[in-house]
Parts: sequence; structure tokens; C-alpha cells
Amino acid sequence: GQRTIVQVNHLFSEIQQIVQETFPKSIELAVDIQPGLWAVISDPTHLHQLLMNLVVNARDAMPRGGQIKISAENLFIDQQYARMNLDARVGAYIVITVADTGIGMPSDILDRIFEPFFTTKDIGKGTGLGLSTVRGIIQSHGGFITVASQVARGSEFKVYLPAVEVAKTPQGQ
Ligand code: ADP
Ligand code: MG
Repeated sequence: GQRTIVQVNHLFSEIQQIVQETFPKSIELAVDIQPGLWAVISDPTHLHQLLMNLVVNARDAMPRGGQIKISAENLFIDQQYARMNLDARVGAYIVITVADTGIGMPSDILDRIFEPFFTTKDIGKGTGLGLSTVRGIIQSHGGFITVASQVARGSEFKVYLPAVEVAKTPQGQ
């Protein structure tokens, strides 16, 4: 597909609408966007797919309901940060966080979640391809992903995507 300038707030609006229309009412979605957010150069359908895969996993982790929080912030990665993280480069990033209050993951599962076809879900409920697709999309942008999880408390995925500063329109966007 075509790469364009994608504003994360537009992306989040689409996700919000799908969640409202298709997810159980026991799942609450909180959306938090920092003002003045940079943009991502991407095929918007790829970013949409990336985010939906994370949000659907969050839903599946909360069979009795809970909260999904999606947020986005600017991050400038400096030399010190880049030295500590082999995937990071010095420069502007947008960090998209998807957090849930679901079942969480023990470390033996956490070690394997990005493997293609790895799933803990029943046959027909999961292909095990969601997170390997997510990682592929992120890598094609030169980004990286981190995950933190606690069993019975929840999980937090952070997607780091190289960003561009976009000139404001006269109306301020
Ligand atoms: P699928 O959703 O089809 O199982 P994924 O690649 O999307 O495949 O996820 C792989 C596995 O990672 C899931 O089966 C689940 O065990 C674990 N997982 C992913 N996201 C979460 C989450 N938010 N909370 C708990 N476990 C998760
Ligand atoms: Mg999945």
C-alpha cells in the first residue's frame, strides 16, 4: 500500500469506533493523546492492523471485562537511550501504549508471544499470527516494541515508531 502521513489521533478514533460497536460492554476503552503529537509515515492500513491486533488481544485477555487504555506520546531518543537499547536509534519517535487489566502472562509465555503460530487460545479462536504480524509491521517502519506483564494484573505493550514533525495548519489541527 501507499505510505502517507498518519496522525495517530485519527487512527485512535477509528479504533475507538470499532471497539464501541463490536466489543462487549464490559470492556471500557480509555484513550489518551498528548497535544502536539508528531506523525508517522506509514500505510495507514498497516498501522490500523497493528493497533487492532493489540486491542483484540487485550479484549481476549479480559473475558470478564476490564479496561483497555491506549495512549500516544512523543519521545526523542537521545544517544544515552539508544546505547541502552539495540533497536533504538537517535531521533524522534511516537510511542503508542496499549495496556489492559487482563490475565497477564507468565515469563515462559512472554518469551514466545512474537513467534508465528504461537497461541494459548482454543482452536478457531486464535491463529497465533497477531503479534508476529505486529512485529513485522513495526520492523518495516524501523521501530521496536516492548512488553511488560504481570499475571492476573495485566499487560502493557509499547510500540515505538520513528516520527516526523508535521507543520500545523492555520486552524491548529
Ligand atoms: P493469538 O491472539 O491468535 O493467540 P497473537 O500472536 O496475537 O496470537 O498472541 C499470541 C499469544 O500471546 C496469545 O495467544 C496470548 O497467549 C498472548 N497474549 C498476547 N496479548 C496478550 C495480552 N494482552 N494479555 C495476555 N496474553 C496475551
Ligand atoms: Mg491476537
